[in-house]
Amino acid sequence: MLDLKEKIEELKRMLSGGAKRIVIVSHTNPDGDAVGSSLAWAHVLREMGHRVDCIVPNKYPYFLEWLSGIEHFLVFKERPEEAANAVNEAEMIFCLDFNRLDRLEALSDAILANEKAPRILIDHHLDAPDDYQLRFSYPETCSTSFLVYRIIEQMCGTELLDKASAEALYVGIMTDTGNFSFSTLTPEVYRAAAVLIERGVHVPYVNASVYNQFSEGRVRLLGYSICTKMQLIQQNQVAYIALKEAELRRFDFQQGDSEGFVNYPLTIAGVKMSAMFLQTRKFIRVSLRSRGDVDVNLFAARYFGGGGHKNAAGGKSFVSVEQTIEHYKKAVQEFFTENNWQ
Ligand code: 5GP
Ligand code: MN
Repeated sequence: MLDLKEKIEELKRMLSGGAKRIVIVSHTNPDGDAVGSSLAWAHVLREMGHRVDCIVPNKYPYFLEWLSGIEHFLVFKERPEEAANAVNEAEMIFCLDFNRLDRLEALSDAILANEKAPRILIDHHLDAPDDYQLRFSYPETCSTSFLVYRIIEQMCGTELLDKASAEALYVGIMTDTGNFSFSTLTPEVYRAAAVLIERGVHVPYVNASVYNQFSEGRVRLLGYSICTKMQLIQQNQVAYIALKEAELRRFDFQQGDSEGFVNYPLTIAGVKMSAMFLQTRKFIRVSLRSRGDVDVNLFAARYFGGGGHKNAAGGKSFVSVEQTIEHYKKAVQEFFTENNWQ
């Protein structure tokens, strides 16, 4: 984080000069990191005297509902006018846990319409565009929540974190690192976790609140997805699971229920890449995960108009489930042949 110090000085300058109206936006299908980093950043800005609104394009998953303060999030899909007004009146806009504005879908129009508020990026995805007044873009970082932690630490000290904001940051780090298991972890992340625990995080409570509060339908859908729907291709090196809308309805699907399903095939020895196709009303959501050298950020960008990180990425497909699977199979073959992995 070579230039973090200078960027923080610039950020302090931008935040000086009295109370401001500030908006924090995060990505569509907000996850633990999107919500956790937004909550903690909002807390710190409010402590500095600013008026802050957190906005997300659509609803966060129910297993994050227990996070204190999340009930005040403006969900653009549910309250478009209120959210657009807040964006319109904002004097500063923080963009957290995504880098391209198109990840906000319809909410991006409101952001672009506000031409006077500087936009500040705080994010850990690859390939951040240049169109921000200030950019905290650190793709090697495990999560946006850890990045926000580092900024708070250097800007005003972690004493400013109360129990709720410490829990929010801990959830962001925990969910984006596969419950503290991914290669993005460093000793500094564990030091941050230790401080968050000192600020009041009770690890068993947070774990149980996020991972042990699923609906019966979700657990049964997981069993069905693995037992009946998982397919292995490319000499058993690649997996996919495709779920249609009718199947989701059968299991009373709620937003967020399929979170993590895509990881299970990777627990099979020899599987290097896994995909999950989730049919929604407008398109098919594509989730990709990989191990080691298999770069799903590249794969998602090339074949599904998306992106993300090297080992976790996503995109969309606008054709039928069957056509999407055919496209995926061909893409896998091409990608694996190119890299001599067959
Ligand atoms: P997930 O599979 O959990 O939805 O997403 C995995 C990663 O890929 C996340 O970091 C997410 O931000 C990114 N991602 C998911 N969908 C898209 C997409 O449509 N476009 C881009 N650029 N990134 C995505
Ligand atoms: Mn993240």
